[in-house]
Amino acid sequence: MTKPQDDMNLLRDSINQLDAQMLDTLAQRKELAKKIGQRKFGTQSAIRDKDYEQLILADRIQKGRALGLDANYVVHLFNTIIEDSVLSQHVEFQARANPGNQQDIYNVTFLGEKGSYSHQAAERYFSRHPGKVAEHSCGTFKEAVERVESGQANYAILPIENSTSGGINEVYDLLQYTSLSIVGEIIQPIEHRLLSPFADATLDEITTLLTHPQVHAQCSQFIAKLHNVKVEFCKSTSHAMRQAQEANSHAVAAIGGAVGGSYYNLVPIHDNLANQRENHSRFIILAKDPQKVAGSIPAKTSLLLSTKHEPGALVEALLTLKNHGINMTKLESRPINGNPWEEMFYIDVEENLEDPDMEAAIEELRQQTRFFKVLGCYPDAAVDPTEPTSKTLSRRSPKADKKKVPATPKTDEKPLKKKAYHLVSRQHQAEDTIIQIGDAKIGGDSFVTIAGPCAVESEEQIFDTARQVKEYGGALLRGGCFKPRTNPYSFQGMGYEGLDLLEAAGKKYRMPIVTEVMDAEDVVKVARQADMLQIGARNMQNFSLLKEVGKVHRPVFLKRGLMASLDELLNAAEYILAQGNKQVILCERGIRTFETATRNTLDLSAVPILKQETHLPIMIDPSHAVGRRDLVAPMAKAAKAVGAHGIMVEIHPNPEVAKSDGPQALRFPQYAELMADLYGED
Ligand code: PEP
Ligand code: MN
Repeated sequence: MTKPQDDMNLLRDSINQLDAQMLDTLAQRKELAKKIGQRKFGTQSAIRDKDYEQLILADRIQKGRALGLDANYVVHLFNTIIEDSVLSQHVEFQARANPGNQQDIYNVTFLGEKGSYSHQAAERYFSRHPGKVAEHSCGTFKEAVERVESGQANYAILPIENSTSGGINEVYDLLQYTSLSIVGEIIQPIEHRLLSPFADATLDEITTLLTHPQVHAQCSQFIAKLHNVKVEFCKSTSHAMRQAQEANSHAVAAIGGAVGGSYYNLVPIHDNLANQRENHSRFIILAKDPQKVAGSIPAKTSLLLSTKHEPGALVEALLTLKNHGINMTKLESRPINGNPWEEMFYIDVEENLEDPDMEAAIEELRQQTRFFKVLGCYPDAAVDPTEPTSKTLSRRSPKADKKKVPATPKTDEKPLKKKAYHLVSRQHQAEDTIIQIGDAKIGGDSFVTIAGPCAVESEEQIFDTARQVKEYGGALLRGGCFKPRTNPYSFQGMGYEGLDLLEAAGKKYRMPIVTEVMDAEDVVKVARQADMLQIGARNMQNFSLLKEVGKVHRPVFLKRGLMASLDELLNAAEYILAQGNKQVILCERGIRTFETATRNTLDLSAVPILKQETHLPIMIDPSHAVGRRDLVAPMAKAAKAVGAHGIMVEIHPNPEVAKSDGPQALRFPQYAELMADLYGED
């Protein structure tokens, strides 16, 4: 008889063999991708073909499902593979576009020592290049620039902006006074952790915190909560880590990344320190000579200019870009040393320097400005993953005419009385408002599904549900954290604890989240975490709440009140728009009538009427309308047929134990079936 240990070893051996095969296959695939890249070079066709990538994903999802692998897993895997192929092709293309630039050894300089964030960015950036890397650490950004200027190094890698703390002024200022060119960029996820030499060190024991000022700014909210802690600023994160290692005490900790900390025998004792969970830094790569960017690679160009002292001079410069169809991605300004109140502008655009439009724009800009310099042209590092569409994810294959949304009905009827609302009306804005939330576009011709449980109940429940929502093509994840319940003793929601879970589930499955906000005082706080704010039916005429959501920049999902007319709904939306927030989605979720067979009565005629009256998108919530899961699918399909811009449906892993609205929650297979009916072919 085999012993359990032997058995385990056998299984592990088999896994090792499979992994070796997989690595081999991946390496072969990468070589093929490079060959395709070589064929593409010279044809001037774009490196990425998003339609083709969608087809690949659809095919792999289908094959994966047949083998019992879920779509999320397959998509995640293939996006990682596609990203690597694309970036490898970039390097191939750049080598061909800049012959003579290949080196056996890249001398790279950066701030700090091993383990600093700049060091990690340098390692990642040059890992795709064929040559070896010689690392040169520096004490300041200025020193890094000077080393390249003097020829001691070929490249300097410098952080230029962070998604939490913004632009890094010192680096912007250095760009004013150097002749180096930007030849590349890399976007690096930054995960700040509290690091200690002792895995058992606790927050209470810490009295000294070592950190770089930029990092301090990104983690200010966490640091403010620490009591009796003295913050000591260090010139780089690697210095902070080295000092923590040398102190060798439970009382001294540093902020740094987990990989960086490992160089100094430090271990994370607390995670997620950054004020914003999505924390990225963009680094630029500077070299002595400018590089060309191959035509098939999406390119960015960075410009530096100061305008003439005339009214509208900056507007004129920006209009020049607009007139040539050039998209600007960044505008920063910095004071000019010695010229008080004069500004130098940094502009990033999505265009290749050799593009004829760009050449023409530059020609004009040179005439319009007092100072003008091209800082560099380089490949755009953002390889955004191809997200499969609802059609790709729903089980059956696509059929074009199913997607069509009925046109907005025209009316000859004159309005009976003058409308009190204005901003929401078609008279004010004829074209449909289209609201973009993450990858989802709501409005116009789209039909979007928002799904999730009535309430967030536990980590397991929301993660299971999120996985299912995404797997079959849901675009947004819903989940109530503050529940408006008729009975004060019923479950009131998990509050902010629930919102943390919803946010984490949304992040994991790459879906924006929507949750209800009930109290005007919570609006700003909820808006920090939620991608869209829901105003529940019971609050449709809570005017102080409407005014508050009108002041934040998040889209608002406004539900029609239980007893509200369409006119009242539009006036409620007007409250929000009047405060400045133009992003409102209206939702019909059933109204009170004498009928008792359903929880409410779904007023489907609201859709064509609202489409005549307003440019705002209109969605249907069949779940709260009918209150019974057997009727949800037919009404969801009816919503599509009458031209709604989408639906919001409640689903639950086990509706029998749901803490609210169990009877109307779709079971997972019912949701999958509905999505196939809505987006797939029979
Ligand atoms: C909900 O969406 O969970 C909800 C409470 O909806 P309504 O406000 O439409 O009742
Ligand atoms: Mn509900």
